[in-house]
Amino acid sequence: MRKINPHDFKVARRGTSREINRQIALNLIRAHQPISRADLARLMSVRRGVASLLVSELLSESLIFEGALGEAVGRGRRPTFLYIDSRQRCVVGVDIRASRTYILLTDLMGKQLGVVSSFQTSRDIDVLTKDLARRIKQMLADFSEVSACEGVGVAVPGMVDPALGRVLHAPTLAWRDVNLRDPLAAALGIPVHIENSGKACALAQLWTTRSDVVASGNSVFVSISDGVGTGVVVNGEVMRGRHNTAGEFGHVPLNIDGPRCSCGANGCWEAYVSNLATLSRYFGRDLSEGRPREAEEASFTVEDLIARARAGDAKALAAVNSTARYLGLGLASIVNSVDPARIYIGGEITTAWSLIEPIVRSALRERTLTDFGGATEIHIVPAEEHPRLRGAVALVAAPAFAAPMVA
Ligand SMILES: [Zn+2]
Repeated sequence: MRKINPHDFKVARRGTSREINRQIALNLIRAHQPISRADLARLMSVRRGVASLLVSELLSESLIFEGALGEAVGRGRRPTFLYIDSRQRCVVGVDIRASRTYILLTDLMGKQLGVVSSFQTSRDIDVLTKDLARRIKQMLADFSEVSACEGVGVAVPGMVDPALGRVLHAPTLAWRDVNLRDPLAAALGIPVHIENSGKACALAQLWTTRSDVVASGNSVFVSISDGVGTGVVVNGEVMRGRHNTAGEFGHVPLNIDGPRCSCGANGCWEAYVSNLATLSRYFGRDLSEGRPREAEEASFTVEDLIARARAGDAKALAAVNSTARYLGLGLASIVNSVDPARIYIGGEITTAWSLIEPIVRSALRERTLTDFGGATEIHIVPAEEHPRLRGAVALVAAPAFAAPMVA
């Protein structure tokens, strides 16, 4: 008699393979659009009739639409092309940082609609939730041509349990075990997905990167803002760990006697390379002092600092160069533990990349254990692409297209 394995939770339903085929079809149309039914059938290695049936289903649900006519092959009919129907459906991306919170509206494919708006982040979770809900409602009302919002994705500067919708610990906001998702979803009446900002960036990168690049090795996304978020991708999946806290390289110490970090410890990588750390170094004050004292300091950003460094301000250049060296030293820890094929870096500091790259690379080479490690690919994700907002959007958009892993 066959025994049921109580540890195997995968239940094969009758509709399973059909659901998988639909997801695969949607994902292929997204990646190859415009695409004909014949090409879709060829890419899926199924008969033309099977592909046509799937296409009819997706058309009837308005997930895709038929567009311009293609070139006829031989004497056949001219094929119609298929596109993902992202016109009527939108996604809201939210990037919460300790200083400010940013909001962006995109279509289902992640294409930006309108401008990025921002407001000061309240550390009071109830105040922040109400503020967010009000602004998101306003944003959706302003885009009345978009009929349906698929969901809100929120990138959080801290460790998150996405299944429970809880923020486990966000050091820069002093949040511990708070529910962010449910109150926001209740206020909006729209599904809300939350995720650690580094992991969200890694997911977005995974979603938009060609599959051959994904297959060629592991990658790490380092997002530098008020803090430092990192997302590690292993075997095509974002590494989560037992309690969703894996990959917190921002809190690996560079020096146990270093500056006080937001987490309460001393000398974490974040306390050396975050925007706040770089600015504190420039103004010659302690990171643990928190909010800047002078009005000039309060409105002064890392971009302002980089502009001064480029204009020849020696003190500004020294502050930026120190960050570059610490950045390289921390990247070496990542290379030594993950050995990724490539590292993506996002954040305002990357606007200084042409200035700091030699210093970052030399520090990386200094502390990696092989020549391969020192030569690890580094890709800069430009600040104007808003990687954290893209990450937030991908929380909603990517699962809609993701084909489940089929062993
Ligand atoms: Zn720390």
